[in-house]
Amino acid sequence: MAGQPETTIFTTMTALAESTGAINLGQGFPDEDGPTVVIDAAVDALRSGHNQYAPLPGIPALRQAIARHQQRRYGIELDPDTQVQVTFGATEALASALLALVQPGDEVAMLDPSYDSYAAVVALAGGVPRPIPLAPPDWRVEPDAVAAAVSDRTRVLLVNSPHNPTGRVLDAGELDTLADACRRHDVIALTDEVYEHLIYDGNHIPIATRDAMWERTITVSSIGKTHSFTGWKIGWASGPAELVAAVRGVKQFLTFAGGTPLQHAAAVALDEAGEDAEKLAASLAQKRDLLADGLNAAGFDVLDTSGTYFLTADPRPLGFDDAVALCERLPVEAGVVAIPLSAFTAEPADRVRPLVRFAFCKKR
Ligand code: PMP
Ligand code: GLN
Repeated sequence: MAGQPETTIFTTMTALAESTGAINLGQGFPDEDGPTVVIDAAVDALRSGHNQYAPLPGIPALRQAIARHQQRRYGIELDPDTQVQVTFGATEALASALLALVQPGDEVAMLDPSYDSYAAVVALAGGVPRPIPLAPPDWRVEPDAVAAAVSDRTRVLLVNSPHNPTGRVLDAGELDTLADACRRHDVIALTDEVYEHLIYDGNHIPIATRDAMWERTITVSSIGKTHSFTGWKIGWASGPAELVAAVRGVKQFLTFAGGTPLQHAAAVALDEAGEDAEKLAASLAQKRDLLADGLNAAGFDVLDTSGTYFLTADPRPLGFDDAVALCERLPVEAGVVAIPLSAFTAEPADRVRPLVRFAFCKKR
């Protein structure tokens, strides 16, 4: 019999912030709303009768806006009817893809640390996770680590850039190392690009644009981070028609189709709120620097972060070498909630045990 499911670290730490009144630099959600033009579009949609099921693939206006976005930003051409699927956040896109593709016993390679839903859904599918360890302070994807994790037994390689929790933006060389392994072992890349617009140094490169990768890549993103609507849970998967059909096949029995008025507003966000996303990234870059300076002044060693809204800090100069213990004391003694990086690893590895993740998507 299956054991009791664990409560996620985000739920636990947000509850701790609420019960202690501490500032929540744990769970990654902004404490300010996204653009008014998008909120107005949602209200208009609610008031003009867009309140029943959306079509299973998502409303045409949103699928077309996603296709325009991918074309404008990355030169990727998508057929909005067959190559785009709207989902309940990136989370459902990732879950549908993994449940569709992974058979019991199949291996799934993923960066380690990684966002916590990946390993959970691989377990639901009966897959076997294969970590690709990243090591601080650079968190680089190393060819040897990829070679050790990816083989002919691998069905899916999960990519995430910009990367939660480290804030790394993978460069072209690292993406090519991953792409090479996919081509060599006939592996499908499932890439989580929810932070694609939250980049402070470098550029976002979708792995689908690397050599011969389009035909074997499912790209996932959502409106949550880019436009500060994490509670709307409007996401999408895109890629070749047969892979998108596989995602759709599972998604139809998870939730079918929902969030109709928010899908209308998400189309407006993608088409009209590009400048707001740029402003958000500029303001987050300042908040990153503010938080990094503060943590440095407090005695932490702060690691570089180039994207997402997270940074990691090493408290060993302050005499702490166990982030779990530190994160239990921080709310009470310093009025701040943070997340131990070990929550994102397959095993509590020594290389991450001391490290703490702080979110900087909060008011100054
Ligand atoms: N992937 C990553 C890497 C994330 O940090 C998050 C944050 N919640 C998600 C996926 C989930 O995205 P969504 O809220 O659109 O489901
Ligand atoms: N993605 C957010 C984070 O990493 C939180 C998501 C969640 O609460 N499940 O903090």
